[in-house]
Amino acid sequence: MVTIKEAESAVKTLLEYLEGDANREGLEKTPQRVIESWNEIFSGYSTNSEELLQSTFNGEGYDGIVLLRDIEFHSTCEHHLQPFSGRAHIAYIPVDRIVGISKLARIVDAHAHRLQNQERITKGIADDLEQYLNPLGAAVIIEASHGCMRCRGVRKQNSVMTTSAMRGVFFDKAEPRQELMQLIHSRPL
Ligand code: ZN
Repeated sequence: MVTIKEAESAVKTLLEYLEGDANREGLEKTPQRVIESWNEIFSGYSTNSEELLQSTFNGEGYDGIVLLRDIEFHSTCEHHLQPFSGRAHIAYIPVDRIVGISKLARIVDAHAHRLQNQERITKGIADDLEQYLNPLGAAVIIEASHGCMRCRGVRKQNSVMTTSAMRGVFFDKAEPRQELMQLIHSRPL
């Protein structure tokens, strides 16, 4: 178990690696600030998907697509510790239970606020929807731009990576998948 003090001291070592002297005024409190900011950036480790998705409501027979579009998120790439961010679109077709809309947004952060890759976030959200809502179908589409592409390596500023996970009828049938794509690409309000 690494203590907060040890973590801060590790950050200080990295600052010394960069600058030689980590004691100048601007850097003095940086190790504490970095570790504090990690609490927020990596809050997903203390979020439980089951708890998030356990409070559902009677869907009263609604059997269409529920789509929450353009959920912005920020995450951290596990390979370079570089930020990546973008938008997630989450959809499901309820059988009898629906879930509060804010829970769909929070489930994105539960996965994004960890050391991640985009594929794992996409699959993880779809797995949670399937497991805890037991819907007729679930779909997750994520579009993101990656800091490790923008700022280092190939330096491509505008590339966007898209990943998708389709479950149930969204995987099996073309019609619901097409309807979903139309809803995602319909004009914003
Ligand atoms: Zn990376």
